[in-house]
Amino acid sequence: MTESLSCGVCGRSVPLDEDHVTVSVEAIRIRDRDNRDEYVLHWRCAESAFGGWLKP
Ligand SMILES: [Zn+2]
Repeated sequence: MTESLSCGVCGRSVPLDEDHVTVSVEAIRIRDRDNRDEYVLHWRCAESAFGGWLKP
């Protein structure tokens, strides 16, 4: 059985032996502890979520 995780966008399972995207979100807080979250997304879900974003 292939290991899979839940997609952060659609909630369905993401087989880790297929194309997928991992996202690491870091919340930088000046007056509090930083916060880090990890997400796994389907390739298509990531494209619809991040398509058109500009790099800093
Ligand atoms: Zn998805």
